[in-house]
Amino acid sequence: MQSTKYIWQNGEMKLWEEVKVHVLSHSIHYGSGVFEGIRAYETEKGPVIFRLGEHIDRLYYSAGAIKMKMPWTKEEFKNAVIETVRINELKQGYIRPLIYYGYGELRISPLGCPVEAIIAAWPWGKYLSADPIKVKVADYIRIHPKSSVTDAKICGHYVNSILSFLQVNSEGYDEALLLDFNGNIAEGPGENFFLAKEGKLVTPLLGNILAGITRQSIIELARDLGYETEERIVLLEEALAADECFFTGTAAEVTPIGSINGQLIANGKIGAITGKLNEEFMRIVAGENEKYSKWLTYV
Ligand code: PMP
Repeated sequence: MQSTKYIWQNGEMKLWEEVKVHVLSHSIHYGSGVFEGIRAYETEKGPVIFRLGEHIDRLYYSAGAIKMKMPWTKEEFKNAVIETVRINELKQGYIRPLIYYGYGELRISPLGCPVEAIIAAWPWGKYLSADPIKVKVADYIRIHPKSSVTDAKICGHYVNSILSFLQVNSEGYDEALLLDFNGNIAEGPGENFFLAKEGKLVTPLLGNILAGITRQSIIELARDLGYETEERIVLLEEALAADECFFTGTAAEVTPIGSINGQLIANGKIGAITGKLNEEFMRIVAGENEKYSKWLTYV
């Protein structure tokens, strides 16, 4: 990983090499942290952070789901994110805030542990290929909404994503697709799923998935471009018979899906709507579309 100079921890800027957590921190043992993945983009007027307010809102929602009492206001935390990008002189990249239960007592209850946080940021390019990727339905289903607070971004949830990725990766695929407990499409390990059929977009309902900020942005952008999105149950068969399929996410941005389970989606190439959404999305984050400047925080 390419490092930057500073990482923010509990209100202080520390050198990248010197930030520490104790090995008996609760979150290391039980996955009881919450986090965000945020992108910063380069624009003519300097770096911008994409939808910072929404990411901070989700971070605080996730923290609330595991009863963390946040020592910082949202405004203070937002400013710490901006400061981390600024002090590292980052032009573009990935920002990773993590709130965790630190060193206190070691038992299931985290309530005897302090709530601590770090914010790191580093230069980062594409996460998945810009070319259509090969996806396979994982043997693991997405965690059941009654097993956890599914729409919170809790560290422990990511074992479900990691297992799914490792399985399909070992079989030669680029990324996994997880079904929900009813066998309908849920999402990727770190991405939301969309399909396009006859000029309309379809995406799985909220409930079994993370409420992706990119997902919401793409629904809004698509509407402005004249494409309505239906949020409903999505069958795997519909995806296989779609004109286009793609993933969205902070890391994935808009990633075209070329095949699922070895079966091509249409001709396996980037579809017209996917291409258009990707192009417009990249213009927005580059600060080239005034209409969406509300989504950008200048550093
Ligand atoms: N689903 C999961 C499980 C994720 O981890 C992510 C990444 N945060 C997403 C979807 C996409 O969400 P966003 O667009 O907010 O990054």
